[in-house]
Amino acid sequence: MKFELMSLPYDEKALEPYISAETISYHYAKHHASYVDKLNTLIEGTEFEGQSLEYIIKNAEGGIFNNAAQVFNHDFYWHGLSAESSTPSVELSDMIKRDFGSMEEFKKTFLNKAATLFGSGWVWLVLNENEKLSIESYSNADNPLRHHKKALLTCDVWEHAYYIDYRNVRPDYLENWWKVLDWNFVADNLADVEIDVTNAYSQPCNDNSDVCDYVDSMQKYEETPS
Ligand code: MN
Repeated sequence: MKFELMSLPYDEKALEPYISAETISYHYAKHHASYVDKLNTLIEGTEFEGQSLEYIIKNAEGGIFNNAAQVFNHDFYWHGLSAESSTPSVELSDMIKRDFGSMEEFKKTFLNKAATLFGSGWVWLVLNENEKLSIESYSNADNPLRHHKKALLTCDVWEHAYYIDYRNVRPDYLENWWKVLDWNFVADNLADVEIDVTNAYSQPCNDNSDVCDYVDSMQKYEETPS
């Protein structure tokens, strides 16, 4: 089984004038495609052949890790963009306010981290182990999977992501990238986490822990007619 280049969820012209068709034709059809090809070549005959992308990212080193992570990162990047206008869900907005103070402060902090990341890399909105949002900068191909964090949104700040449209002016790319974000994709990623949490608590409460005794007692209380 070989990895395949994902289908772009929109036309190459869809994000104009913010991200041009020419940028996408290089970024997706050349750069992204070549990470997929290199990954397939590198894993042939190794322990990673036939493994999932997630497994490879968590366990491989060197060229295999770099190419696998770049495939994941680009898949995530393209899915996070859309020509359709969208806004953050109520739940996400509440979490952004809780963890960054306001939407404006969140945008400022995110774009500033992306503008100042030295060299090539990616900036991510993630959910940490403690269920809080945070903005993480990673160099080169490194990504949240490798650090056991849940990815919600990513921005590619490698020069190939913006040089055709914005030359060396990374901040202009970032401002325009922000205009084509797909907030529904971010909300979907957040919902994935909630499904996991719900499953963790959907087991029957039938052991003898204090928490279960409490839940049982509350159920009895609620069922008692007043
Ligand atoms: Mn890229």
